[in-house]
Amino acid sequence: MTGVSTRAPSARLNQLPSSTLITGISELWTSDGPPLRDAALVIDGDTFAWVGPADKAPDADARVDVEGRAVLPGWVDSHTHLVFDGDRSAEFEARMAGQRYAAGGITVTTDATRAASDDRLAALLRQRVREARAGGTTCLETKTGYGLTVDEEARAARIAAAEVDEVSFLGAHVVPRGADPDEYVALVTGDMLAAVRDYVRWIDVFCEEGAFDVEQSRRVLDAGRRAGLGLRIHGNQLGYSGGVALAVELGAASVDHVNFLSHDDVEALAGSDTVATILPACDLSTRMPFAPARRLLDAGATIAIASNCNPGTSFTSSMNFCVGTAVLQQHLTLDEAIRAGTAGGAKALRRSDVGRIAPGLRADLHVLDAPAAIHLAYRPGMPLTHQVWRAGRREI
Ligand SMILES: [Zn+2]
Repeated sequence: MTGVSTRAPSARLNQLPSSTLITGISELWTSDGPPLRDAALVIDGDTFAWVGPADKAPDADARVDVEGRAVLPGWVDSHTHLVFDGDRSAEFEARMAGQRYAAGGITVTTDATRAASDDRLAALLRQRVREARAGGTTCLETKTGYGLTVDEEARAARIAAAEVDEVSFLGAHVVPRGADPDEYVALVTGDMLAAVRDYVRWIDVFCEEGAFDVEQSRRVLDAGRRAGLGLRIHGNQLGYSGGVALAVELGAASVDHVNFLSHDDVEALAGSDTVATILPACDLSTRMPFAPARRLLDAGATIAIASNCNPGTSFTSSMNFCVGTAVLQQHLTLDEAIRAGTAGGAKALRRSDVGRIAPGLRADLHVLDAPAAIHLAYRPGMPLTHQVWRAGRREI
């Protein structure tokens, strides 16, 4: 068990009463360079105040000894779809028995989500956020996209905005059954966008065969930009969709999935500010080829790792699992994988306050129940999250 001792705050006049010194850190992964050994850090209020070697640590009001465990920034999961109701385990089972995945299965979720009450949807979302938090995720993006009507998309955006750090509008997730694609794009870029605008920071589009083509995706993103939203794309998951080229051309913050990349796609990403977000659990759950993360890194692109937690193709929010899989299956070094799940996710969300451990940043911490972070890949599937701190408060 972790020892916690509290002293009287009057000993030092220049000290705020809310500081905590964390000691006993075997490896401190700041996401800036190699890990520090035998490290300590001080949290003051909701931010980090000091980071360095244990023998130089300043005093603080309270002290927490993590007893030789590895400490990372909290995971930044920059891609999830958590506002939904309904069960798709049978569809998954059928796919595991050989049926091929194609865009469109989400209508099962759309029907169930529309039928759920506000209270039920909010409770389901809170439960999923708690699950993510229990796995070390401290900054979370989620999307609309299971409503697909003006009122339902606005409802999902409103419910999401109350529970997570970042919300994306994904009205352009799939063309609803029976709708004309161009008429639906006009609805997404018109009344639907206006209805969600106050609840979201991002606009996203599923640029893929069977969903929205490049020109339809461009219309969606242009409208979002005019409304003041940042841009993200689901692209190149099922084929060479053109999503990557569009993301780079429009200066999107991130293009996500990126399984099928041409040489030009890789070069374009490497020469841009657009983050390539890989979704290892989704690749595994759909038995698709893993995104070529090694090629992207070797070319100089910035990558993020996210869970894509959703009921159809990746029903896990375990970033421990995603990061371990990126090491085991996609040949990332541990340092590259940790950075992609923390600072990479922060860059994909254009946030400078999370994803690293440094003075002044939000005090989001993940203490592993292991002496070294390589246990994320060395012990796949094991319960490795020991403590989670978010904005200076211990939550797990
Ligand atoms: Zn997604």
